[in-house]
Amino acid sequence: MNGVRVAVVGAGATGSPTVWGLTQCDWVSQIIVVDPDQVALSNLPRQPWYHPEDVGRPKVVVLAERLAHPRIMGIHDAVDEDFTWPPVDVVIDATDNVKTRQDIEAWARRHHIPWIFSSALRWEGQVAWMHPEGPCLRCLFGDDWLDGPRCFEAGVVSGVTLAVAGQVIGLLERWQHNPADPDLYALWLIDGWESRVWSVRLGEGRCPHYAMGTYKR
Ligand SMILES: [Zn+2]
Repeated sequence: MNGVRVAVVGAGATGSPTVWGLTQCDWVSQIIVVDPDQVALSNLPRQPWYHPEDVGRPKVVVLAERLAHPRIMGIHDAVDEDFTWPPVDVVIDATDNVKTRQDIEAWARRHHIPWIFSSALRWEGQVAWMHPEGPCLRCLFGDDWLDGPRCFEAGVVSGVTLAVAGQVIGLLERWQHNPADPDLYALWLIDGWESRVWSVRLGEGRCPHYAMGTYKR
């Protein structure tokens, strides 16, 4: 596959290295980065593309400038149920809150677009390739899956965010070679402290939470 348009939602600790990884993929024709935030002082240790003089500027603008890549398009906006999506072939969730993840999921399922869930917290990372008709996040994490502590509250180890970004890029490479690869549908768990990565197959089991792409709350 060539000419793939990838959207990355979130230009933070996992999103910014993911975007950099995508700039190295010659089969990606457009990298769309969506983030409503400005660079904050607390971002600087883990997000090396942002410098002290960038504090207060939109992350998507700074990231596009620093990576100076012709195929990056920044959208300084929040993804919610009313977000107007540009044309994309796959969406990377690199956010840190459940509401935005569910808005990405609902849209991707409605439009039958594959998407990747990614998260990093403390020493742990999680990445899952989500089938538009397979198990959803609620199937994976349970009914009372609520916002837990977020990166800026609980902290995250830089090596884990880089491992998560690497796993996301690796999955995209596999998908690009074979979009029908059934082994893509798995949850990868990264334990940075023990230096372990393992996966759980998700298969294409039924999801009771969505009907015709609409989430039943
Ligand atoms: Zn479900």
